[in-house]
Amino acid sequence: MRTDDIFPAALSADRDYLLNGDMSRQPCVFYFRKSIGDDFATQVLRCVQYARSAGLRLDASIGVDGVYYDEDKSGSKDIERPGYNKLMSDIMSGNLSGRLIVVRDQDRLSRRESSVLEEYHVVTELSKVRTFDSSGREIKDDVTTGIIGVLNRSEAKIIGHRQRIRKELRAIEGKPPASRMRRTGYTPGYTAIEWEEAKILRRARKKVVAGQSLTSICNEMRKNEIVKQNGKPYLVSDLSRLLRDPVYAALRTFSRDIEVEGKVIPRGQAVAKGAWPRIFTEEEHYEVVKILVRNASWATDSSPKHLLTGILVCGECGTKMAFGSKRGNPHKDGTKKPHYVYRCQKARGGCGRVSRNSDALEGFFLELTYQAIKPLPVVKGKVVDTSADEIVRQERKISDAVEAFKNDDIDIAALANIRRDAQKKIVDLRKTQAAKSQPLPVDDAEAFLESRDIDKQRDTIRRFFPVVGVKVAGQGVRFHPRQLVFPESA
Ligand SMILES: [Zn+2]
Repeated sequence: MRTDDIFPAALSADRDYLLNGDMSRQPCVFYFRKSIGDDFATQVLRCVQYARSAGLRLDASIGVDGVYYDEDKSGSKDIERPGYNKLMSDIMSGNLSGRLIVVRDQDRLSRRESSVLEEYHVVTELSKVRTFDSSGREIKDDVTTGIIGVLNRSEAKIIGHRQRIRKELRAIEGKPPASRMRRTGYTPGYTAIEWEEAKILRRARKKVVAGQSLTSICNEMRKNEIVKQNGKPYLVSDLSRLLRDPVYAALRTFSRDIEVEGKVIPRGQAVAKGAWPRIFTEEEHYEVVKILVRNASWATDSSPKHLLTGILVCGECGTKMAFGSKRGNPHKDGTKKPHYVYRCQKARGGCGRVSRNSDALEGFFLELTYQAIKPLPVVKGKVVDTSADEIVRQERKISDAVEAFKNDDIDIAALANIRRDAQKKIVDLRKTQAAKSQPLPVDDAEAFLESRDIDKQRDTIRRFFPVVGVKVAGQGVRFHPRQLVFPESA
């Protein structure tokens, strides 16, 4: 068997580079071990990424094209590991001297009792062969390696780590993003195009390119009763997000920065060409993106500019209320004056039944919050909180235990126990810390009222009243506090 079966096709360029690029680089070999719930692909990805970043080359003259591997499906110690045995014998006979051994994680060498690792350390040290994991940590006979060896035997925490790598690999391979929600325009799993939705997107794209505004396109869609999957109308922000998404040109992006063939691709940018059906060609995609980005100031600026946005919700349907103006009845002289209101908007998927005077609402909440702050003691700077000291104490416990382990006062099982125990306490303490009230954004009640910083004021109000409902009440927009609904939990 050759290693073609082990290296995913998407990494073949990386592999060529490691085998045939600059030959003056430090040579290395890889060791992979397959086991239940693990595969070669994610091990290859991480080792390849590390080797590139560390400026190594893969030495194809030893092992199988520079690779040693085992296919054992179990971590039990009776299973034969021909790849590992070959690696050990090559180390002992000096075939590997001057090479580095790279593994994805220490647990690929051994997840069994420490005697296996101890033997590994002795043999590699004698033969002057060094071993690195894919994060660049040297695996040698030190305390860290010992502790990781103990923790590795509790499998759980490693699984999340592997799933992360698997997601990256799916992206590099151009597989469709995994998601619980069906993507607008596609059947589940991106297997086919949902034609009715695709047509909506294609039409909207054409209109944008022709110079029509997203607002006017949304209005047309609302008139034609075109709605999203959840039955709510398309908003400007929805349309802007969808039309800019590379997924419709079958371009695969990733949710974090990702390293591909030695280059870091920033999140959201195309990582690979996908194999799923396209709704837009790449040219069509980039064409509409260029127009929408030019208009980004209005298309994406969604930061609230009013005191109570994000706090007030419609007491009838639960939709967040928006700031806006409403024309009132004409005065006696025939003039109409606009009322400024917070309202439940149909355009945002609401019932449209509630709108109340914004000045009255804002004035009321400023006063209410002012009264809530006034009785509070003025706390400047440090909040009295002992959990920080307790965290330091638990951290010291761990370092003491490590010290004791080094001096042979306790064995590694005791160290692992102490560590796990203290770590759990630290996590709990951090939770309490987060739950305890942080200082308010303003110093005191007067500073709150006088502040010219609307974001600061809104943050302060939200600390006392995270969500407040506004009930429908007759005609007009006059506000009375009894129209407010304060949720129990808030
Ligand atoms: Zn409503």
